[in-house]
Amino acid sequence: MLNVNDIHSYYGKAHILGGLSFDVPRGEVVALLGRNGAGKSTTMKSVMQLVRPRQGSVSFQGQELIGKPAFRVAKAGLGYVPEDRRIFTDLTVLENLEVGRQPPRDGAPEWTMEQLFEIFPNLAERRTNRGKHLSGGEQQMLTIGRTLMGNPLLLLLDEPSEGIAPVIVEEMAETILKLKSEGLTVMISEQNLHFARAVADRAIIIEGGEKKFDGSFTEL
Ligand code: ATP
Ligand code: MG
Repeated sequence: MLNVNDIHSYYGKAHILGGLSFDVPRGEVVALLGRNGAGKSTTMKSVMQLVRPRQGSVSFQGQELIGKPAFRVAKAGLGYVPEDRRIFTDLTVLENLEVGRQPPRDGAPEWTMEQLFEIFPNLAERRTNRGKHLSGGEQQMLTIGRTLMGNPLLLLLDEPSEGIAPVIVEEMAETILKLKSEGLTVMISEQNLHFARAVADRAIIIEGGEKKFDGSFTEL
């Protein structure tokens, strides 16, 4: 589904990704692991074209993404939840979710508000609350929910467990497994190995912008 081949990404002159390659097949949950500064977020941004790789290729469903504007990448069916989650604090939970709504897409699970509320019961309870009154974990769930309203084929979550209480992290793991059972393909970047192991089929370890491991958690 997603093929990243030998990409080189930079911030100015700083060469961050030095020839990174990996695949994400349809239906899998893949975890990008690695220390702070390893290049996990840069990898996701390079897929989303928020950072433009200067060499290599990123193809999604056989279509080259490098050079496409970021909004086209989203339209191609990639849903991205960045590290610094952003919600509309003056809008209600329902209104925030509406902001993300897109028409149905071939091959992608289609989410109704009811289904989302089944997956995120906390959001259902707070559907008329304003974003500013939500906890960090609830805000994170709302960001994921809003992204799902775009009916993505592939969901990229950058450190979904960061800054979230352990009990909510467990709920988040269950949520990701539910999303997988609905046919969604997911890539997460994580520092929390326990969480990654609970949700992912496969681990990719990045170190210094290069791939150090790609395989199952049992081989890790
Ligand atoms: P973390 O686990 O802390 O989120 P990460 O693996 O996601 O780390 P990246 O954010 O991809 O790491 O950063 C990779 C390298 O790129 C780091 O050395 C970082 O300092 C550098 N970097 C990240 N963003 C920028 C930027 N906007 N400008 C310049 N350098 C950056
Ligand atoms: Mg990061």
